[in-house]
Amino acid sequence: MNLQMGEAMHRTVFPVLSIFVLTMLVLAAVAVAPVHAQNQTQNSAQGDPSQDKPAGFLPPPSAAAVKELPWLTEKPTPAKRPAAKKATAKPAPVDTKTATTVVPDKAKPEPKKKKKAKKKIVPAKKLFGAKTRAADLRPRAIGFYSKGCLAGAARLPDDGKAWQAMRLSRNRHWGHPKLVALLQRFATEVQEKDNWPGLLMGDIAQPRGGPMLTGHASHQIGLDADIWLTPMPNRKLTRKERENISATSMLAADKVNVNEHWKPGHVKILKRAASYRSVERILVHPAIKGKLCKEAGADRKWLYKVRPYWGHHYHFHIRMKCPAGSPGCRAQKPVRADDGCGKELTWWLKRVKPKPPPKVKPKKKKKKAKKRRPKTMDDLPAECRRVLAARSSTVEAALKRGK
Ligand SMILES: [Zn+2]
Repeated sequence: MNLQMGEAMHRTVFPVLSIFVLTMLVLAAVAVAPVHAQNQTQNSAQGDPSQDKPAGFLPPPSAAAVKELPWLTEKPTPAKRPAAKKATAKPAPVDTKTATTVVPDKAKPEPKKKKKAKKKIVPAKKLFGAKTRAADLRPRAIGFYSKGCLAGAARLPDDGKAWQAMRLSRNRHWGHPKLVALLQRFATEVQEKDNWPGLLMGDIAQPRGGPMLTGHASHQIGLDADIWLTPMPNRKLTRKERENISATSMLAADKVNVNEHWKPGHVKILKRAASYRSVERILVHPAIKGKLCKEAGADRKWLYKVRPYWGHHYHFHIRMKCPAGSPGCRAQKPVRADDGCGKELTWWLKRVKPKPPPKVKPKKKKKKAKKRRPKTMDDLPAECRRVLAARSSTVEAALKRGK
C-alpha cells in the first residue's frame, strides 16, 4: 500500500512540481534583466563624463576643480546644443553655396570676357595722336569740327616770309589744304596790306585730324586754326623759343576790357580774317569782341563772324566752312547776321566779369567731376577708320598740297 501510494505520488506530483519550478526560473530571469542593464549604464556614465548623457548622471564638480577649470560649471547642454545646431546648420549654407555657386560659375566667365573686351577699347585720341604723317588719301574733312578726322592733310611750312609756326614738337600744323593755303595768304596779306609784322601760328590739327591727347575739343577735321595775338618778331625764332615763349594776353585785370598790348592793328587783322568768304567764324574773348564793337566804325558787316567765347585772349581761332569736295563734312549752325554787339555781348561780359566774393563763405560742396568716356572709333564717322589705316603720305607731298 505504502509502495503503491509512493509510486502514485511520484507519478503525479513530480511533473507538476518540475513545471512549477521551471516557470519560476523563467519569471526570475525576466525580472533580473532590466536591473542589470540599468547598472551597466550607471557605471559607464560615471566612468566617462564626456559622453553625451543627461546632466543628472554627472557628479557635481569639486570646488577646486571649479577654480582651476571654470568651464566645468558651464552646463554642457546649452554649450553643446548651439554647437550641434551649427553642425546641423552648416550643411545648409554649404548646400546653398554650392547651389548658388553653380549658377555664378556658369555666369562668371561671361563678365570676365566683357571686361577683357572693354580693356581692348582704345580711345580714338590715342590712335590719332600716334600718327605722325598724313593719310595718303584724297583731301577731305570728315565729320564735325569736334568729332571727325582729316584725310590727305596739307602741312603748313614751319616758316614763311609772313609767319612762323609755334610749338613744333606738338606736330599740329596739319590742315585741310584749303585752310593751309588760306593761312599763308592771310599772313602774307596782313603783312603787305595791314602793316602787321606777321603771324605766329598755333595749333591747326594733327596729321590725320581726330581727337587730341591734350587740349582742344575741336580742331579735328583740319578746318580750325589758332593764331597768336602776339605779333611776329622781326627775327626767326629758334626751335627752343617756339616751344617756350608764351603768348601775350590781351585781357585787362577787370576781365572785360583789353590791356595795353592791344594794338589798332589787331582790329585790322581780325577784320581781314573775317573778310574771307571761306571763313565761317572767328572766336575771341568777350573783352576783345567788345573792343572790336567800339573800334569797328561804320563798316560793321564783318563783325557778325567774330564770336565771343571763353579763353581766346592769347590767340584767336579761325574756323573755315566745309570746303567743296568734303561731302562727309558737317556744317555748324550759321552765326546770326547781326553784329553781336548788343544783348549777346552784354550777356557774355556779365559772364566773364569776376563776381565780388560773397560776404558769408558758402560751404563748398565737393562735386565729383563726371568722368567723360573718351571717344572711341565708334563715335567718329566710319570713314575715319580708313583714314587711320591708310598709308602715310610723304611730308613733301603734304607741304605741296598746301600751296
Ligand atoms: Zn582753337
